[in-house]
Amino acid sequence: MTIANFPVQTGGERSSTGSGTTDPNLQSWVDEVARLTRPDAIVWCDGSLREADALAKQLVTEGKLIRLNPEWRPNSFLARTAPSDVARVEDRTFICSADPDDAGPTNNWADPALMRDELNVVFAGSMRGRTMYVVPFSMGPLGGPISQLGVEITDSPYVVLNMGIMTRMGEKVLRLIEGGARWVQTVHSVGFPLIEEDGHKRDDVQWPCSDLKYIVQFPDTREVWSYGSGYGGNALLSKKSFALRIASVMARDEGWLAEHMLLIKVTSPEGGVSHVAAAFPSACGKTNLSMLRPTIPGWKVETIGDDIAWLRPGPDGKLYAINPEAGFFGVAPGTGEITNPTAVNTVWGNTIFTNVALRDDGDVWWEGLTETAPSHLIDWQGKDWTPDSGRPAAHPNSRFTVAAAQCPSISEDWEAFGGVPIDAILFGGRRATNVPLVAQARSWKHGVFMGATISSEKTAAAEGTVGELRRDPFAMLPFCGYNMADYWAHWLKVGKGLGVNAPAIFQVNWFRKGEDGSFLWPGFGENSRVIEWIVRRIEGKADAVDTPIGLLPSEDALNLDGLDLSESDVEQLFRIDNESWMEECDMTEEYFKKFGSRVPPALLAELASVRYNLRAK
Ligand code: GDP
Ligand code: PGA
Ligand code: MN
Repeated sequence: MTIANFPVQTGGERSSTGSGTTDPNLQSWVDEVARLTRPDAIVWCDGSLREADALAKQLVTEGKLIRLNPEWRPNSFLARTAPSDVARVEDRTFICSADPDDAGPTNNWADPALMRDELNVVFAGSMRGRTMYVVPFSMGPLGGPISQLGVEITDSPYVVLNMGIMTRMGEKVLRLIEGGARWVQTVHSVGFPLIEEDGHKRDDVQWPCSDLKYIVQFPDTREVWSYGSGYGGNALLSKKSFALRIASVMARDEGWLAEHMLLIKVTSPEGGVSHVAAAFPSACGKTNLSMLRPTIPGWKVETIGDDIAWLRPGPDGKLYAINPEAGFFGVAPGTGEITNPTAVNTVWGNTIFTNVALRDDGDVWWEGLTETAPSHLIDWQGKDWTPDSGRPAAHPNSRFTVAAAQCPSISEDWEAFGGVPIDAILFGGRRATNVPLVAQARSWKHGVFMGATISSEKTAAAEGTVGELRRDPFAMLPFCGYNMADYWAHWLKVGKGLGVNAPAIFQVNWFRKGEDGSFLWPGFGENSRVIEWIVRRIEGKADAVDTPIGLLPSEDALNLDGLDLSESDVEQLFRIDNESWMEECDMTEEYFKKFGSRVPPALLAELASVRYNLRAK
């Protein structure tokens, strides 16, 4: 860690003493951001353990992190955010392309020039009294052919610690940048300067943030500016901002795909290997499926990624994928010994927990970790809690940050330079009604139609009403950096290029409910049964029946041995109600209208074909 002092000079001008890099572009950008935000000091992060230890110690001393009892949870910490800063803020997330039509109807567009003026005002002096950290990071293995580099400037040591887990971070990345590799600029400030405009000092708080928030992407110049929030999805700019919003634009321009997808390697009892990518909206089961522990004998699932995948056609014509991240930023509630033992074992130590509850013995707890709650806890807001409190002890969007390498089910190939060949792509969401447990698309085009028309109930991962149904095409609604209809066209184009090598596409839904309002499907480890059918379909070994909306497992094709499901449950899981699907089609037509003439004709043709099939049935 190099600290370049930033002496206060008369006239309010500051300049950096000592240079952190030999790369003139990086240096002048850092200087420029420092001139705007006016930190007390600049730290170039080297990514070492020593640096992380020192930052954690500092945060503990300042009362911003709680060190958990090392006996239960070595080298682990608890952070409590401000109650107003617990999730992504989609209404404050902007895509600033030159042309509003390039952002499209599903993004908040703002004029790039006006937004820059606005940001120049809010960022002016926003780091006064604080240290500015320069965090160089690699998305994907260092120097890999699918990997990309970035630098995040931040005034949050919590962000630095998380970035150290979530990315390959530090000095080695700097060397690659100095060697001429391209990189993406990202700037983050919590928006809580310790010295006010008039020069008065103000005390720091446990979780500094601002009521005014901006998460701004400039796709044309590949830049991100984030202000006012410290929450992961808003502040770890490698993740949703770069690896999805900016990368999706790079991918469009360069012929690849940046997707909100988990990646797994599946081995069948005979030893056949397939790789599966799956896109589900936030808090709809990606991390869980990526760590699936099959309940059916002989099957093995290994983890490659849990949230983001970058996919590229390889030299052999197949589609290859990497996980650009190095860690998991997972939802804690619902993660338990029964539902996801792998995740529970992953977070044994070296983990940052955010907004979970604190046990009296200095360990952590959240709803679903164990069947019964401890008799006393300190809740995510620092208040006493008992099972009678009538409120959750952990925030529904509380999270763990942990290195992927610590995951017991991590695949040997998870850092493969060229990625892994993808055999199947899954689209899913939370649907209490209509959408069957699994359906296979008839073709790539039909699969793109399935992805484009996904709707899902809203979750606690973003501010808003939980449970409300909304369209979330490809689980990319909050993350596509350009016009969603152009994105569909891009998918069609990539599929055309892949031809016969294109992965098979499926739609899944673990969340269909019965008349009593409870989930019909046991989910979690039992999802391996659906994976089995999918793999057998690819191998040409499982039967399907053609229905108006896709290919469903024919009777007995889905392995339900040993499952406690009634015939009526199974019937309801796969029921296709023509009338409701006709209504879905009407809604899809309305939805497509929002995109005007940019909707690819192939998708309109798919819609017409589903309607035709429904009428013919
Ligand atoms: P992600 O944000 O997409 O990675 O979603 P997670 O895997 O973290 O899961 C979000 C929430 O959905 C957690 O509370 C999980 O316990 C729950 N969940 C995940 N998979 C299943 C499933 O198969 N069935 C049910 N009922 N819930 C699930
Ligand atoms: P996730 O998203 O729920 O898909 O893991 C993290 C976030 O809130 O940005
Ligand atoms: Mn996740």
